Amino acid sequence: MAADSDRKRVLLKVSGEVLMGSREFGIDLDTVSRVGAEIAEAAQAGYQICLVIGGGNFFRGVAGAAKGMDRVAADHIGMLATVMNALAMQQVLQKLELDARVLSAIPMPTVCEPFVRDRALKHLASGKVVLFAAGTGNPFFTTDTAAALRAAEMRCDVLLKGTSVDGIYSADPKTDPQATRYERLTYMEVLSRDLKVMDAAAITLARDNQIPVIVFSIRTQGALMSVLAGSGRSTIVTA
Ligand code: UDP
Repeated sequence: MAADSDRKRVLLKVSGEVLMGSREFGIDLDTVSRVGAEIAEAAQAGYQICLVIGGGNFFRGVAGAAKGMDRVAADHIGMLATVMNALAMQQVLQKLELDARVLSAIPMPTVCEPFVRDRALKHLASGKVVLFAAGTGNPFFTTDTAAALRAAEMRCDVLLKGTSVDGIYSADPKTDPQATRYERLTYMEVLSRDLKVMDAAAITLARDNQIPVIVFSIRTQGALMSVLAGSGRSTIVTA
C-alpha cells in the first residue's frame, strides 16, 4: 500500500437513480452491492474514497414543489432520501469488510455521525470510506453541488460523477440521435453551452478549486477502475 501522502483522494458522486437498477423506484440491493464492490476494489487499490450519493431514486425537491409542496420542505425530504442511500451503501461496504462511515450534513446522532470536516479527514487518513449524506444540508442545492463542496473541503484530487450516461453529450442522447459525446471540455464550455450534466453551482465550485470533473457511466461494470486508470469512456472537464 502506498504511503498516505501518495494515495489519491477521490470524491465519487453516485446518482440516486443508478441505485434503482432496473426498478422504478427506491433501492435495488444487488445494484448497490455491485457498485459497492467496485468502490471496495478502488479502496483496496490505494485510493482514499469520499462518497456522495444522490436521492433521486426516492425524491427530488423540484418534483415535490411542482406538485404544490413548499420547496424547502420538499428539499428536506430529498436530503433525507440521500441518507437512506448512504446507509444502504455503508451496509454493503461493511459486508465487504471495508470500514465506512456516514457523516450527515443534517445532524441525526442516533443514526450516523454529524458532518465535521476534521473528523472526515481523520477517517480518510485511517483508511475508511467516508459517505457524505444529506447533501449540503441546505435546500435549493443538489447533491452535485454537495459533491463539489465536499471535494473542495476534503482537498480531493478529482470529482468523479458516476451516472447513467457515459459522459457529457452535445444534446440528450436519449432523445437526439445526433448527440455526440465530448472527450474533454473546459468548465467554461460546460457553463456557456449550458450542458445539462451538473448544475452551474457545482461546476463553478469545481472550477474555482481546480478540481477536475470526470463524468462516466457507473452502470457499466468495471467503469470506476477504468476511469481511475485514465481509460474507459468518459468526459473530462478541466480548466
Ligand atoms: N437536496 C437539497 N440540498 C442538497 C442536496 C440535495 O435540498 O444540498 C435535495 C433536493 O431536493 C434534491 C434531492 O435532495 O432533489 C436529491 O438530490 P439530487 O436530486 O441531487 O439526487 P440525484 O439526482 O443525484 O439522485
